[in-house]
Amino acid sequence: MINLDYFQNEIEKIDKSKPKYIDTPAFEMITYETNSNDLKNDIEHSLISKNFIEEFEEYIYTLLETTENQNLFLLNQNIETLKLENRHHCVFNIFDKNLLGSYYHNQNKIVYYDIVSLGHELLHAASTNNLSLPLCPQVYSGFQRNYRQHDIDIVRFKGLNEGYTELLSRKKFFNEDYNTPCYTANVYSLRLLDLLFEKNELETAYFNNCTEYVYKIFCKYANDDEFYWLNKYLDIFANSIAKKEEVEKVFNKLKEILKRTYNNEIEDNADNIIDEYYKNNPKMKVKKLY
Ligand SMILES: [Zn+2]
Repeated sequence: MINLDYFQNEIEKIDKSKPKYIDTPAFEMITYETNSNDLKNDIEHSLISKNFIEEFEEYIYTLLETTENQNLFLLNQNIETLKLENRHHCVFNIFDKNLLGSYYHNQNKIVYYDIVSLGHELLHAASTNNLSLPLCPQVYSGFQRNYRQHDIDIVRFKGLNEGYTELLSRKKFFNEDYNTPCYTANVYSLRLLDLLFEKNELETAYFNNCTEYVYKIFCKYANDDEFYWLNKYLDIFANSIAKKEEVEKVFNKLKEILKRTYNNEIEDNADNIIDEYYKNNPKMKVKKLY
């Protein structure tokens, strides 16, 4: 197992946004250690005793087919106690028709109002490590960190996490169609950020709660302030409707950072991703800087 106390200290250092800690070992990619070389088989075995609906099982099998063993540790850990509740006809859904589903990490439970949300919620269940003790709530979910400090519940990197969760959901379950109505600005920002990483690197960091690694790679081309600035906007986009001026600002900043790689292919890919965003979001048409 990785040393989570050490990790916790490191993330608090990140939160304070003071000096650079890039060279400390915690900022390497660290994956959860497992004794099993075939977590896929273990998970399939656990599935036998569960009575999940067929559609949800299909999402799980697709996830197993498209995900490396090193990224299945938390799904294997959570699957046996994972609960699924259909609230399709629930009265709450009448008040908020836009609500599709949620994952409650405290109960390890997915509640869904629309079956289309199951892929996204499954990814939360497959990337959440609930480390809470009665007086010490502490949850790592993908890139997100929930913990309590001085009696205040703190949530960090929500926008980063929701954006990547939805990106991965569209990649794995929707044939890479990123034209999603959920967290759209976050998804496209994360697609741009992903250009800084090797193939599947960001995915491995996500399933192993390695937010520190995202920070490390980002800081090869940018600085602490830019990391905080980006996460501030990703949180704003995740918590409210993204304003077009703000989306444009974030895209421009990410393009500026991507230019520092001096890689033409990366720059071309970035332009295509941004064009795709504006094509799929016609109301969001704004001016662009080249
Ligand atoms: Zn989510």
